[in-house]
Amino acid sequence: MELARQGRSVDAVIADLEAKRRDDVKWADGRTFGMVYNGGPSVHEVAERAARLYLHENALNTKAFPSLGQIQSEVVGWTANLLHGPDGVAGFLTSGGTESILCAVLAARERGHAERGITEPEIVLAESAHAAFHKGAHLFGLKVRKTRVQDDWTADVDAMAKEVGPNTVLVVGSAPQYPQGVVDPIPAIAELAASVDANCHVDACMGGFVLPFVEMLGREVPPWDFRVEGVHSISADVHKLGYAPKGVSVILHRSKALRKYQTFVFDGWLGGFYASPNLQGTRSGLPMAAAWAVMQHLGIDGYLELTRQTLENADRMRAGIAAIDGIQVLGDGRYHLVALAADQSVEPPIDIFALGDALLARGWFHDRQGPPDTLHSTVSNSNTGVIERYLADLKECVREVRGQVADDRSTNYATLE
Ligand SMILES: *Cc1c(COP(=O)(O)O)cnc(C)c1O
Repeated sequence: MELARQGRSVDAVIADLEAKRRDDVKWADGRTFGMVYNGGPSVHEVAERAARLYLHENALNTKAFPSLGQIQSEVVGWTANLLHGPDGVAGFLTSGGTESILCAVLAARERGHAERGITEPEIVLAESAHAAFHKGAHLFGLKVRKTRVQDDWTADVDAMAKEVGPNTVLVVGSAPQYPQGVVDPIPAIAELAASVDANCHVDACMGGFVLPFVEMLGREVPPWDFRVEGVHSISADVHKLGYAPKGVSVILHRSKALRKYQTFVFDGWLGGFYASPNLQGTRSGLPMAAAWAVMQHLGIDGYLELTRQTLENADRMRAGIAAIDGIQVLGDGRYHLVALAADQSVEPPIDIFALGDALLARGWFHDRQGPPDTLHSTVSNSNTGVIERYLADLKECVREVRGQVADDRSTNYATLE
């Protein structure tokens, strides 16, 4: 591959990009469950206009771009408030959930080393905790002690307790965990972390911009945020159900002193003083400004309406699946995540990946996950207006694939090429 010597016109370049997108999922029609979150036309408009303003700006140095410093502190502040952060709560914006989690892992390692002298740090988590924690352990040299989940898919705190010891620097809970959408017993996990003075991180990448509004709508939510005493840090993705475009998440620490463990400061370079809040250097202003604009545009009332719609979509989907013979929803996920699996008591059980192929042929895109074989849906306002069509197609597809087995058994949460 070689880049052509001669450049091409703006129109020609853009036309090529438009053509390239032909095989991409058509998220705008609502048939993709996750990955793109559609808050409606005005939300897209405000994001796009903010993006245009900040496309070229760089948050590397907020002395040059003080507006980005303000934007960061306001988005962080609003999020901390939603998550009941106490006085002194502090955070940063990152590029996404993975980076927020990496920062939390790093902060836990650094605190364990500084305050407890730990040189062989360990993380204790359930098998439902996001893969990004394993990535963090890999990058930063921690050992992961992973435990089974309970029958209801929540973290098994007794099993975790057996893995916690003097080298534990981080104990993880999720609100909710991604695969089945259930909220872990956060108070018990925080207590477990406190028993060895380890950090407790709550991964609310998925729930951070859902659960606060679910609670305001009057639906029961178990305790999970900073109101739980022993929670040190929380990750919450604005680019999921915060309805901001990709590239923005919030990492919060209970205090500035705890946040200090994730930052890097260096004053021995010919280039001058270097202070880094997260893992990036040069940092696009676009996602930060777009997130600010989306949050301002929606306000609490906007989020309440999007959340109400999301819950209606997800509840309808769960009820529809329950009414189809041969398939079921795993776990008691009450919010926006739906894990669709075969009902093993029906003979022969439906091959869930064959079902996924049949749905895909009709334009419905799910993550394929496992074990066990599951089609995963992150339901949002994006899917408003299509659920009845989906359930009708699902019913037909289940009938169609009875007795079939798909060749492709691969799962695909994230890919390389
Ligand atoms: C999406 C997600 C992450 C990772 O976030 P990215 O923005 O994809 O990097 C982590 N944890 C949970 C529970 C998630 O849903």
